Amino acid sequence: MKNISIAIDGPSAAGKSTIAKMVAKKKNYIYIDTGAMYRSVALYCLNHHIDLNDEGEIKKHLENIHIKMDQNNHIYLNDEDVSETIRQDEVSLAASKVSIHPSVRSFLVEQQRNMAASKNVILDGRDIGTVVLPQASLKIYQIASVETRALRRFKENKERGMDVDLETIKKEIEERDYQDMHREVSPLKKADDAIEIDTSDLSLDEVVEQVLKLINKVEEE
Ligand code: C5P
Repeated sequence: MKNISIAIDGPSAAGKSTIAKMVAKKKNYIYIDTGAMYRSVALYCLNHHIDLNDEGEIKKHLENIHIKMDQNNHIYLNDEDVSETIRQDEVSLAASKVSIHPSVRSFLVEQQRNMAASKNVILDGRDIGTVVLPQASLKIYQIASVETRALRRFKENKERGMDVDLETIKKEIEERDYQDMHREVSPLKKADDAIEIDTSDLSLDEVVEQVLKLINKVEEE
């Protein structure tokens, strides 16, 4: 049987990881959260007081950064479970900053390609369809209005017991969108052959259903 790879790209807080996780579970595919990897590099830099804009300094530390994921979608940075810590707003913005550096990107892209090899996988991120897996079996570009995204993140953070403010979340999302779309290397953009899904007015189940239909079609080909 052929290996199938699904790329889900799109702006921050568009619900990519929620959909990817649900679909991966239903199809028994491996889910790879590439954003968590950029977040882990960012957290390492914050913990070690490394200037996020200093690519040379970050590059020196990359060999000390070991990221692992388990089947329950827990993320380990040098064997410490950082699944919750990397979701903090400070880490989100820091991830967007470290992700502009080509050396950070190639360090993580290589690992992502290795993780994706010889399995059925779903990866979500910003550059999966354009850079990491340009030959992906299916590419989805998932979007939603900034208001919808901010509200979803607001509710999510509240459920996690985090201190939240809707306006701040909206500004943070807009800032990350801008940084991700305007960086020189691998900016966020829709791959020419990606299928766009606007989830603003769709329920989770409706999006999952659409994606499953697309995957089933690819599996039959
Ligand atoms: O997807 P998530 O919001 O967790 O990603 C955090 C940040 O990591 C993004 O804002 C983006 O700057 C960066 N990222 C990236 N390429 C990816 C995944 C994430 O540049 N494939």
